[in-house]
Amino acid sequence: MRNKLADVLIAKGIVDTKVLDAIRTVPRHLFMDSSFEGHAYQDKAFPIAADQTISQPYTVAFQTGLLEVEPGHKVLEIGTGSGYQTAILMQLKAKVYTIERQLELFKKTNLFFKKMGYRPKKVIFGDGYKGLPEVAPFDSIIVTAGAPEVPKALLSQLKIGGRLVIPVGIDDQIMTLFIRKSEKEFEKKELGSFRFVPLLEDKN
Ligand code: SAH
Repeated sequence: MRNKLADVLIAKGIVDTKVLDAIRTVPRHLFMDSSFEGHAYQDKAFPIAADQTISQPYTVAFQTGLLEVEPGHKVLEIGTGSGYQTAILMQLKAKVYTIERQLELFKKTNLFFKKMGYRPKKVIFGDGYKGLPEVAPFDSIIVTAGAPEVPKALLSQLKIGGRLVIPVGIDDQIMTLFIRKSEKEFEKKELGSFRFVPLLEDKN
């Protein structure tokens, strides 16, 4: 079923062979509630706990490809959710730091990683808007929720040459790639329309 899902993603334009291999390897059904398990290899988003969703495989593959992950890269993920995207990044041998602001999901997914033997570098309960200054700079940062605006902290936590992939917008989002060219310069590319649950800021 995973091979078939990879074929569907190829037909939709995903070409990155390492990303496709990761999709063929990570058991998405285990990241989902048992009531949806039978649908895990459809190219669709599904509800997880706390009114959130596990991203559509096409979206996961598209965003992951834009990160250009190399083994050993230090990657920050905002929005751990089910942990599926985290696992795809780990399959690419990234050192993953992942932040989740919903306590219920943080606890559930953290426990799941331990049970499954998945080892992200760190799973953090907190507000991803702020990034993770104590671990920065990162080779890449992926935001898996729709951001009304681009958090400045995330741009500032990229290495030179580092990449931020973030869906920007309120109802619909434009997938936006930033590449840090120098201390002050960023190249920006807009890469199509997507729909995500919102990135929420903790104002306290
Ligand atoms: N990568 C996840 C996507 C989950 S949906 C997966 O594949 O399952 C997006 C997640 O972002 C939700 O779990 C939501 O709670 C979380 N989120 C929203 N705003 C956030 C913030 N400011 N910091 C960290 N996580 C946030």
